[in-house]
Formats: sequence, C-alpha cells, structure tokens
Amino acid sequence: MKSYRGSCHCSAIGFEYRTSLPPAEWSIRACQCAFCRAHDALSASDPSGELRFVAEKPDRLQRYRFALRTADFLLCRECGVYIGATIQIGDSRRGIINTHALIDTPADLAATEPMSYDGEDVGERVGRRDERWTPVSAVPS
Ligand SMILES: [Zn+2]
Repeated sequence: MKSYRGSCHCSAIGFEYRTSLPPAEWSIRACQCAFCRAHDALSASDPSGELRFVAEKPDRLQRYRFALRTADFLLCRECGVYIGATIQIGDSRRGIINTHALIDTPADLAATEPMSYDGEDVGERVGRRDERWTPVSAVPS
C-alpha cells in the first residue's frame, strides 16, 4: 500500500491514508449536499485501505454533525479546512478523506463523480459507509 498524507491549511490536523489503489483508480465523489458543496469537498475511500487521523494541535479539531447526524465531519477551528469524516459502526470506525486536503495531490487522480445521497434513510446511509468507507485506526480524542 502507498501512503498519502493530508492536512488542514495550518497543519494542526491531518490524516494518513493508505491504499493499494493507484490514484487513477480512486473513486472520487463530489457529494452534492450543502456542506460538501460549500467546502468544494471531494471524498475518497478504500474499504481495503487504512486511514488514520492525526492532530498536531488537538484543541483545533472540530467535529461537526448535521442532517442524519451519523458521522463526524472533521474541521480545523483555526483555518477552517475540512479534512475528512468518520463514522462509528458497532465496533468499527470508518472514514473518508477530502482529497482537496492532500498535501501532494497525485497528478493522475481519477475523474470526479457527482453524487447525491438525499434519499437515504439512516440504515441505508450507515450501510453504504460500512461497505465503501476506509477502516480507521485512529482519531484524536
Ligand atoms: Zn488548520
């Protein structure tokens, strides 16, 4: 697996994303919800990969929940950048990265795909994330 690092603008919070998928084969979703459009967020995940969120300055980590309130969206309190999201499902935690927070964006990154999840209920939303999001090994408390 290759490692890809990301961070907010002021480097207070970030992530390490590990995947064996070449960037040209990443699934990159442009979620059309109001939050993701406002941040121009692009989501990527790999259910066979690994994701670890880190915080150089844990006091700057802001969790934000909205809509069905099933996931924590992780933002920096200082610079405002949205780096990714996590969800707790039973004993496991899964997550996505915002590819716009990658420190070195791969040149051959896959094309983005617009997505709308508006019709999902809580069960469908959690089930989709359980299948598609990346297993998370650590999130700062
Ligand atoms: Zn920051």
